[in-house]
Amino acid sequence: MTSDEPGPGQQYAIQARKHITALRRARPNITIEIRWCPAHEGIAGNEKADEWAKEAAGRPGAHKRLPRSLANLKREIAEKKWAEARQWAGGRISKTKYQMPKSQRPDGTVAGSTKRLASRYYQLKTGHARTGQYLHWAKVRPTAQCWWCRCLAQTRDHLFKVCPEWKMQQKILWAEVQKETGRWKSRWKIRDLLGDGRCGQAVLDFLSSTDVGRLVPPLEERDAGSEVSEWELRERLEREEEREAEAEELGAAGELGAGEESPLFLPTPSFMASAEEE
Ligand SMILES: [Zn+2]
Repeated sequence: MTSDEPGPGQQYAIQARKHITALRRARPNITIEIRWCPAHEGIAGNEKADEWAKEAAGRPGAHKRLPRSLANLKREIAEKKWAEARQWAGGRISKTKYQMPKSQRPDGTVAGSTKRLASRYYQLKTGHARTGQYLHWAKVRPTAQCWWCRCLAQTRDHLFKVCPEWKMQQKILWAEVQKETGRWKSRWKIRDLLGDGRCGQAVLDFLSSTDVGRLVPPLEERDAGSEVSEWELRERLEREEEREAEAEELGAAGELGAGEESPLFLPTPSFMASAEEE
């Protein structure tokens, strides 16, 4: 401060003296005391400032950027503090509130889809979807038979790979899955397919273009109108509402090509049609 000898930190000394001169000019009676503050020890906030000062001093070209205005330094401190606070809060929130077991963490694609479509996806994933197998297990239907093709067990595997009712949609699904993962249909278990985030979009497209896990026809078509149970009626209405809502959510120009058969107006399942003739 007192010497004009060139040396380390001289530019700060020059700066400081300029400020002192300016202050004295403005207030001739001012008393200015210059103190040595050893590494800002024990002074709240100053420790951090010292740390940054050291860090900045170590950078190439640091001396050209310094000194900086107090306002500029304050802003940077504030920004860094907020960034730290956000990081801290974010870390805590994700651990205490939003952390889910790995196996149940929703895949981004599915979570971002319409509520109803996503719900069908998760029902299928957890084995609680309206499949013949599940409804038989839940004692809602007397057998696990597929109501589309009359196969004896309407399992997830059957619906995603075998059922002729959804042959076209299956083709599209597995072609897409192979494109995304390089793994062909025969090497997939449905459990793995539904747990693989890379296949989320393909599965959602499949679900939105089929009635898999959605449509449950009444048990006995010949009794329709007279003996339909309350459960079946409610089921039918719910399915109808669901399809309409899904179609609305997908939008008029949704995923269904104009040339494709719309799943909204499916013909009577062949199983039901032939039962009527018997
Ligand atoms: Zn089938």
